[in-house]
Amino acid sequence: KPSNTQNHTDSSHYLKDFLEEMKADKIREHLRKFTQLPHLAGTEQNLKYAEQIMKEWQMFGIDSVEMVPYDVLLSYPNESQPNYISIVDHLGNEVFNTSLAEPVPQGYEDISNIVPPYSAFSAKGQPEGDLVYVNYGRTEDFSQLQREMGINVTGKIVIVRYGKIFRGNKVKNAVLAGAKGIIMFSDPADYWADGIQPYPDGWNLPGRGVQRGNVLNLNGAGDPLTPGYPAKEYTYRFSPEDGVGLPKIPVHPIGFHDAFRLLNNMGGEIPPNNWKGALNVSYRIGPGFTDEFKSQKVRMNIHTNNQVTRIYNVIGKIRGAQEPDRYVILGGHRDAWVFGGIDPMSGAAVVHETVRSAGRLLSTGWRPRRTIIFASWDAEEFGLLGSTEWAEDNARLLQERAVAYINADSAIEGMYTLRVDCTPSLHTLVYDITKQIPSPEEGEEGVSLYKSWHKRDNWTNDRDAPRISKLGSGSDFEAYFIRLGIASGRARYTKNTKTERYSSYPVYHSVYETFEIVEKFYDPSFKRLQAVAQVRGALIFLLADSQLLPLDVNEYADSLRKYAQSIAQLAQKNLVEMETYKVSFDSLFSAVENFTVAARDFHERLNQNPLQLRIMNDQLMYLERAFIDPLGLPGRPFYRHVIFAPSSHNKYAGESFPGIYDALFDIQNSADPAKAWEEVKRQISIAAFTVHAAAMTLTPPA
Ligand code: GLU
Ligand code: CA
Ligand code: ZN
Ligand code: ZN
Repeated sequence: KPSNTQNHTDSSHYLKDFLEEMKADKIREHLRKFTQLPHLAGTEQNLKYAEQIMKEWQMFGIDSVEMVPYDVLLSYPNESQPNYISIVDHLGNEVFNTSLAEPVPQGYEDISNIVPPYSAFSAKGQPEGDLVYVNYGRTEDFSQLQREMGINVTGKIVIVRYGKIFRGNKVKNAVLAGAKGIIMFSDPADYWADGIQPYPDGWNLPGRGVQRGNVLNLNGAGDPLTPGYPAKEYTYRFSPEDGVGLPKIPVHPIGFHDAFRLLNNMGGEIPPNNWKGALNVSYRIGPGFTDEFKSQKVRMNIHTNNQVTRIYNVIGKIRGAQEPDRYVILGGHRDAWVFGGIDPMSGAAVVHETVRSAGRLLSTGWRPRRTIIFASWDAEEFGLLGSTEWAEDNARLLQERAVAYINADSAIEGMYTLRVDCTPSLHTLVYDITKQIPSPEEGEEGVSLYKSWHKRDNWTNDRDAPRISKLGSGSDFEAYFIRLGIASGRARYTKNTKTERYSSYPVYHSVYETFEIVEKFYDPSFKRLQAVAQVRGALIFLLADSQLLPLDVNEYADSLRKYAQSIAQLAQKNLVEMETYKVSFDSLFSAVENFTVAARDFHERLNQNPLQLRIMNDQLMYLERAFIDPLGLPGRPFYRHVIFAPSSHNKYAGESFPGIYDALFDIQNSADPAKAWEEVKRQISIAAFTVHAAAMTLTPPA
């Protein structure tokens, strides 16, 4: 089938120079430089790194660099009243307290400003009660607990293990179930790889290591106090009680050393086998402790404060030579929980090297066809705040002019192969690019990244090519893709998901995310980070410099068909109801058919005179925009993409046809089936209309 991603024509020798200029050793230098001190959002050190990045981007020779501040709601522990969890006896005496800090790794003993582990935006409070263990705290875990085991957590403190889903969803589930507090712990089953030593001798999470992280449910809102509008000085702010997505109960994270003490004496039922972690305890569900310890309770002591704080994005630009009013964006965050050795600086170091290489190329006389924007976002860890505020600030420009957004969070989370999540229209470009980049793996000299990746992670079920996944959320592309409808993608190096069962990577969001963990274990040669830099860089380069935009709308057609089939199949589980309520997917399949034909015809008409080129490039650029419904998804006004949204049950995961999916969810247990099926029908019609409307944007304008 015809593809427009291969004709990179005159720019190809520049591309080669651009990619060859990105050096592993330079990435190592950048990473070391920006991981020496803790740089939490809103702190002086994170402003210092912003100033340094601004200065260096200027020296690299790009056209302009500016600092863009916003005042957003952040959350910090109270320095004079530490957060901890106690076991208290019947007199109220604390017989056990969880630790106040992680042991600091060697070489960093004298460093101040290491924020102790906490759950950002936790409610304050000192709830006391019995514990109930609810596995990962997923929707299905709470259903099992309540429906099958008949346990009510109202007024209880739930304890759940980290992993599988975004922690904010766990907290939301606990609140909905009526819990008055929630404790999250890292279980070795999820944060420990067999045969690997704990840091610093290996890359496993030590027993006293803890995962920090925000526990918001923003649904794309950005700063909790200024939803929809940029958080500037003059901006109207909600009162902190009315902030979007703030949890109503205390939340606190612990490591497995402390979790053992809380779980050890728990009583109640033996849990199902898949609820058992890898600690030497029985994982009983509770409520509360065994008879012997029945009088003991658990008390949480949480004093964390929410505070409006200034944050800083750094925005760098290269003006496009022919189409300055078309933007290609490479953005990633700079703020870190502590040192940010992996998250986010492995990604930020890659962006830094990309900017350096682009500056070098500019000095040789190159200038991209379109404008390139580089962003160092702030306060990602507090809910994607810097990137979302800038998207709100620039929404009018971006919706008219943005071609694509490439995200640059952590560039590595494992040592196995490439991982790419992107919009379907970028699939072909990603494949073309990876065929031109060398594999970073030892013993694969002369092998392409594509081949190395394909060998390790074949898409099997769908097709014989390396796997590419849907975008979910949990990083800064969210506002660009799901709110604004800008074609987006992300790429990083990852673990072998078939054999490595742990979630993210063991030391995620702990003090042990240092420069050394990357240098000693994840990427000693820095060639994996170099390969990721080349993938991200080539994406930006070709999106900005190709005459014809390298977007493949046939791939969108294929994906839409796949998603329509899978959502229809999900509905087929209720054949009787579908008959009763006259639910049909015909309109959706017919729209997908229209889209397929329009996409095929579109690609056949490609390659025309300059004015035609601009017309067709606009059709390509605006295709992603066509999937935006200005009304948003039900109850989630900032999630406006009809084809993709973060799963309502896990912000990290992407759901296709989310409106239909959510309407069908648990419909068997609906209190009012007639009404529930009406909503399914309404969502199918919205999806069918949107796909049809998008197809029309691909047909000849007149
Ligand atoms: N990446 C951060 C995390 O996983 C923030 C995600 C978010 O707030 O969406 O904790
Ligand atoms: Ca805002
Ligand atoms: Zn990150
Ligand atoms: Zn993070």
